[in-house]
Amino acid sequence: MSAVRIDGKAFAAKVRAQVAEHVTRLKQDHGITPGLAVVLVGEDPASQVYVRSKGKQTVEVGMNSYEHKLEADTSESDLLALIDRLNNDPAVHGILVQLPLPGHLDEDLVINAIDPAKDVDGFHISNVGLLGTGQKSMVPCTPLGCLMMLRDHHGSLSGMDAVVIGRSNIVGKPMAQLLLGDSCTVTIAHSRTKDLPGAVRRADIVVAAVGRPQMVPGDWIKPGATVIDVGINRIDKPEGGTRLVGDVDFDSCAAVAGAITPVPGGVGPMTIACLLANTLTATCRANGVAEPEGLTA
Ligand code: NAD
Repeated sequence: MSAVRIDGKAFAAKVRAQVAEHVTRLKQDHGITPGLAVVLVGEDPASQVYVRSKGKQTVEVGMNSYEHKLEADTSESDLLALIDRLNNDPAVHGILVQLPLPGHLDEDLVINAIDPAKDVDGFHISNVGLLGTGQKSMVPCTPLGCLMMLRDHHGSLSGMDAVVIGRSNIVGKPMAQLLLGDSCTVTIAHSRTKDLPGAVRRADIVVAAVGRPQMVPGDWIKPGATVIDVGINRIDKPEGGTRLVGDVDFDSCAAVAGAITPVPGGVGPMTIACLLANTLTATCRANGVAEPEGLTA
């Protein structure tokens, strides 16, 4: 391996420490404790794990965590009534509705019912529009984490060629907007892209957010490029059991790239750290307190 391994776990710990320090100051100087409300509908096992982990880390940085666990058959009107209560609760500065929601609930309707100022996932249509027009917004956590790691590694990203593989609303599209905001020349590739290897070979920055195990091989990577692997895929091990891999083939890509994030231990830990950073940002904005440097786009 010749590439620098970008340690998302260590970076996330640094971000959390920075958030915790600001939370202490908010409490001491302004008597404010940031509060994050997480709403989970149903019993999806992966969502339960995420929600537990979010709650634990929220408390660890000194914030208040409010968990709302609702039955899988909760009606849309009951869920909207809860969101309305949270929107109007001054102790709640951030609201996150864990996705996916059960099929009978309209995700767009639910997300757009959240007060955009408390939308710490950055999925509300107002925040999407603000990000797209280069204005101050709440930025989706996973792409924000990727941007932080890229800025940390490169300093300025200005003028770099970037390819984002995947065009989801959660990762691909906001990632492309953020890279554009940092003056990269951005290509968004997806399942219908004609020459994916060609697009990747031109890129100084490759962000893979596809959900296909190890689909990007090392011979697609431009020598010295930075590879950010968002994918989280569970595959069978030949000797039995399973393991997590990303969307890029780590060993062959690491032999060519200049820097690369591993899976696990890369983008994943940054996502929750950025959720905490967004909750802090939302609290500062709601109270007219200066926002911490380096924790937003
Ligand atoms: P998604 O399924 O919504 O989108 C996948 C995208 O990949 C689509 O836009 C599709 O066009 C594209 N795609 C599919 N097949 C392709 C192909 N053969 N070639 C090129 N593009 C192709 O997924 P998502 O929510 O954006 O998540 C992507 C991956 O990132 C998943 O593995 C997910 O688990 C992971 N993820 C990780 C985190 C994290 O915190 N690390 C957060 C969100 C998502």
